[in-house]
Amino acid sequence: MNESKRCTKCKEDKPLSEFYKNKKAGDGLYSYCKPCAIDKSSEWKKNNKERCAAYIREWKKNNKDKHKASVKKYRQSLGFGVYKVEYPSGVYIGSGLLQARIDNHISGNAEIAKTLGEKAMSVTILSWCSKENCKMYEQLAMDSYGMDNLLNTRRALK
Ligand SMILES: [Zn+2]
Repeated sequence: MNESKRCTKCKEDKPLSEFYKNKKAGDGLYSYCKPCAIDKSSEWKKNNKERCAAYIREWKKNNKDKHKASVKKYRQSLGFGVYKVEYPSGVYIGSGLLQARIDNHISGNAEIAKTLGEKAMSVTILSWCSKENCKMYEQLAMDSYGMDNLLNTRRALK
């Protein structure tokens, strides 16, 4: 049984598991071993930065929904975002690690809940974002509500 193959680049005999699959090739494997294939593709990327960037741009343009979905999925996986909590006396907007923050409001342990002596009626996730962008998105959300209408402002005045 022939379980190895010679890489045409580094000329080394390597086990078949060291080669990527290639449907077009006779034996179903690339002629370069994995390290050489990775080398070659990063070399290609380096020498074709513009084409690479153009390709990605083009892909994003033609796959807007897919791209959006993958960005969303990525952000969701991080778990950071901006949320809105409705209390009987108004709306509170916050940001951070969503699960922890939301639990805090629902359980009544959030500072605003204690200050108000009220229970959260509902929590809505407004958007997901990276950790670094939390405050920016929080500000944008607050602006869209108008600071005067928010509990955040009233709390700040106390
Ligand atoms: Zn090789």
